[in-house]
Amino acid sequence: MDFDVLIIGSGPAGTAAALSCLQAGLQVGLVTRALRQEAGEASPLQSIHPGVLPLLEQLGLQGIVPYSSKATFSGIRVNGQLNSLSPEAGETWHGHHLDRHLFDAFLRKILEASDVTVMEQEDIKILRGSASHPLAIQLAGGEKVGARFLIDASGYQRKTRHFLDLEEYFLSAPLHCWTGVAEHKAGLPPAVAETAFFPRKNGWLWVAPESAQRFTWTQLLNQKKQPFALPFPEAQPIGKLSAHNVRWRVFRPVCKEKIILCGDAAGMLDPAAGQGILNALMSGIMAARCVATSLAQPQLEAFSFMEYDQWFITQFEEKVEALKRYYAGLNIDM
Ligand SMILES: Cc1cc2nc3c(=O)[nH]c(=O)nc-3n(C[C@H](O)[C@H](O)[C@H](O)COP(=O)(O)OP(=O)(O)OC[C@H]3O[C@@H](n4cnc5c(N)ncnc54)[C@H](O)[C@@H]3O)c2cc1C
Repeated sequence: MDFDVLIIGSGPAGTAAALSCLQAGLQVGLVTRALRQEAGEASPLQSIHPGVLPLLEQLGLQGIVPYSSKATFSGIRVNGQLNSLSPEAGETWHGHHLDRHLFDAFLRKILEASDVTVMEQEDIKILRGSASHPLAIQLAGGEKVGARFLIDASGYQRKTRHFLDLEEYFLSAPLHCWTGVAEHKAGLPPAVAETAFFPRKNGWLWVAPESAQRFTWTQLLNQKKQPFALPFPEAQPIGKLSAHNVRWRVFRPVCKEKIILCGDAAGMLDPAAGQGILNALMSGIMAARCVATSLAQPQLEAFSFMEYDQWFITQFEEKVEALKRYYAGLNIDM
């Protein structure tokens, strides 16, 4: 079984890449892990700015927001001051707090209903292929699938990293992030009743209210060995707490030898950048464009790869500078 393009991962980056490759008329295979959500498990929410909505529409994913949104917000309270999401006074823009498990499940359903060949696999190996399909993925049972191009959208796993011998660059000190869901049965106190960002000298706390009783909290600390405490002692934790390494990082280059990295696999910032899902969707679309151009006009392949690498690193560096300025303005030590 051979494809024009094989994609690893069915998160926002892999899905955006797969749907955009389909729109370009390519034969698309996608290898991804099984979804891990257990039924009824509380899931920490992730937030998107309204600017993400046009991208979702472009991909035919407009149904995903009503399906996975648990709450909306029109501004973020920072140090007591409400910062509106709307670019103009008199307008009200709404962001969404999304249930990430529902979001991922929706993406998977869309992929399975499309012409993308979805292969649920985790233990995969990347190999050199044949002359016509220079790359191959060996599946758990030993079967090989070939591809003319590969898009790595495997998030923090970065499956092609060793195959390509890419160099990883760190742009921040180690940063540790915890997230979870909590409940105040008697109703949310003012501190957690609004979407809010609480800067601290050594990190920050983000609160996303989900209902009259429940909220998601996300905490970032620049020191690992601090004892963890639920930031609101009177709140009851619901479900599991998860810990993440969110040190800012990027690979160089982000595309090489017919392989393109996108989303978190190419580069990531901590969640305060608020752009993880946006970056995943945009880079997935751009990676697909690079593959489609390279297939339609092979003489432009090297140029297309250089252009993608340049685009990714330029917008990534701009986000790094913006986040540094944001932290400096709030006296957060990073
Ligand atoms: C605590 C926390 C809070 C966050 N909050 C926000 C937020 O509020 N807003 C926001 O925009 N972003 C947020 N982010 C960032 C956001 O989650 C990521 O940037 C985004 O999910 C990246 O998408 P992706 O498609 O690149 O990777 P992922 O979403 O990680 O998807 C990776 C895909 O690869 C698959 N995969 C991985 N390994 C393998 C393998 N070995 N074989 C096959 N498949 C594999 C996975 O199953 C998955 O489908 C947050 C991140 C963290 C850690």
